Amino acid sequence: MAERTVSELEAQALARMRKFALPDAPTFVAGAAAVLLFVVTYVALDQLDHIGPTRSWPVAPWNPELGLCIAAALRWRARVYPLIFIAPVIAALMPGGYAEGDGWWTGVVSVLETYATVWLADKAAARIPLLGQNPLAAILLASLPCALVAATAEAIRLGALANPLPTEGFGINLARLWVGDVIGVFIVTPLFHVNLMPERQITWNRLLEITAQGILVLIAVWLAFGEHPRFASRYFYGVFPPMIWITLRFGMRGAIVMNALAQASMIISLSLAGHENVDVTIFQVLLLVLAASGLTLGMVVDQNRHATAQLHAREDELAASLKIAATGELAGTLAHELGHPLGAISNYASALNHIVREVAPNSEAPRIGAKLSAEIVRATDTLHRLRDFFRTGAMSFEPLDLVTLTKDAVALLKDRLERNGISPHIVIPSRPLMVLGDQIQLRAVIHNLMVNAVDALKPVDADARSMSITLRRHGDSAVLEVEDSGGGVAPDVKDHIFEPLVTTKKDGLGLGLSMSRSVVVAHGGSIELHDSTLGGARFTVTLPREDT
Ligand code: ADP
Repeated sequence: MAERTVSELEAQALARMRKFALPDAPTFVAGAAAVLLFVVTYVALDQLDHIGPTRSWPVAPWNPELGLCIAAALRWRARVYPLIFIAPVIAALMPGGYAEGDGWWTGVVSVLETYATVWLADKAAARIPLLGQNPLAAILLASLPCALVAATAEAIRLGALANPLPTEGFGINLARLWVGDVIGVFIVTPLFHVNLMPERQITWNRLLEITAQGILVLIAVWLAFGEHPRFASRYFYGVFPPMIWITLRFGMRGAIVMNALAQASMIISLSLAGHENVDVTIFQVLLLVLAASGLTLGMVVDQNRHATAQLHAREDELAASLKIAATGELAGTLAHELGHPLGAISNYASALNHIVREVAPNSEAPRIGAKLSAEIVRATDTLHRLRDFFRTGAMSFEPLDLVTLTKDAVALLKDRLERNGISPHIVIPSRPLMVLGDQIQLRAVIHNLMVNAVDALKPVDADARSMSITLRRHGDSAVLEVEDSGGGVAPDVKDHIFEPLVTTKKDGLGLGLSMSRSVVVAHGGSIELHDSTLGGARFTVTLPREDT
C-alpha cells in the first residue's frame, strides 16, 4: 500500500474527524461534549506540566497546553478561540493550577500566540512550496518566532511582578519560557493533529518490534534523566538510535509517538528518581533537539515512501497502457491475418453452394451451405468491428431489443450453465426493450457479465448456486442486472474493478469489465457494481431507452 505524506495524513485525519467528530454533529450535546473534552484535556495537561522538581517554579518548564490549543485551532479554526481563552481561567481555579490572576493573562497570551502561529504558518505555506506540502512543518517553524515573542512578554511580566524564575537573569528565563512553549508545540500538536492509526493491521512481529523500540526509549531516557541527570546531555545520545530505528520504520507517525513517549518518560524518570536540583530546561532543550530531528527525519521518510509509491504506480500505469496498446495491436493483427482466410473461405463457400444447388437441389445441403455462408459473414463482420473499435472506437448503432440480446446471451451460455448446475432466474418484460446500440458490443457486455457470474459461482456449493438476470424499464432507461450468489468481488479489487487488467483469475485478462464500461459509456449509459441480495455481486447496466 502506498505510504502517505504528512499532508495526506493530515487530510486523512481531518476526513476521519469530520466523519466521527463530535463538533460536526449537528446536536447541541455533541458540541457541548467537544467543549468539555477540550477543557478537560487542557486542565489535565496543565496539571502535568509542572514536573517533579519544578513544582515550586512560577512557570512550567514546558507548555503542552499551547500545543493542544494550536491543534484545536487547526481543526476548528475561529470557533475554538473563546475556549482557548476560557480554559486557562478554569485551569487556574484548580488545585495546583496557575497563581491567581495568571489564568486571564495566560488566556490572552494563548489566544494571541495560537492565532499568530496558525496565521504565520498559513502565510509561510502559501509562499514556500516546501512548507505548502508539509503544513505541519509550517506550524512547527511558525511556532519558533511566535513563542519567542510570547516568552519575551512573559519574562518581562514576571520581572515586573518581581516573581523571578529560579535561575538568575532575564536571558535564561526567556530561554526557559521559549523552549517550554516550543517543546509543547513540537510534541503535543502533531499528537492531536496527525492521524496516528496504523494503515495496516498490526502483526505480532510488528507488535514485538514496537515493544522493543518502546523499551529501548524508556531505558535510554531513564539512564539519562533518572540515573545520571548531571550528565544527561552525555547519556542522552542513547535515545537517538531507537529514535532513528522507529522513524525509519514508521515515518512521521513513529516520530510523533516516540517524542511523546520520550517526554512522558523523562517526566516520570525525574519524578521517580526525585532529583531536586536539576535544570529541567536543559533537558527540554535536549528533547527539543530529539523531537525536531525525529520529525524532520519522519517527514523525509514519508516523502521518500510517497515518491517511491508514486513511481511504482506510474510504472504500473505504463505497463497497463502498454498492454492495452498491445491488445489493440493484437486485435488489429488478428483481424488482418484472419481476414484473408475468411475471405477465401467465403468465396469457396459461395462456389460450393452454387455447385450444391445444381447437383442436389432437394437435399439438406443447400440449406446447410446457406447457414455456412451466413456464419462466415457474421465472423467477418465481428472481426472488422472489433478491429475498428480497437483502432478508432468506431461503432455501428442500430435499434436493438435488449430482451432478444439477453435471451441470445443465455442461449449461447446454455452448455456452460448446465455444466455448472446453474439455472438462472430470468425476469424480462413481455414487451421489447429497445435501445440504440452496437449489437456485437452490447452482446459482448451481457456475455461477459454472465460469464463472470458463472465463474464466481464455481467455488460455491452446487446447491447454493443462484444467478439472476433482470431486465426492466426505469424512467427513460433500460436496466439490465446480472447478480449471483458467489463470494462477491474481492475487496482489494473492488475500487478499481472497471479498470483494465484488474483480475483475480489465474487465466483472466482483466479486460472484460473495463471493455464493458467503455462500451456502455460510449452508448450513453453506465455500469455499476453493488452487493447482491443473493450474497454475491450485482452488476447493473443502465442504457438510454430508444422507445421513449
Ligand atoms: P477477467 O474475467 O478476465 O478477470 P473482468 O474485467 O471481466 O476480467 O473481471 C475482473 C475481475 O472482477 C475478475 O477477475 C473478478 O475478480 C471480478 N469479478 C467480476 N465479476 C464478478 C462477480 N460476478 N463476482 C465476483 N467477482 C467478480
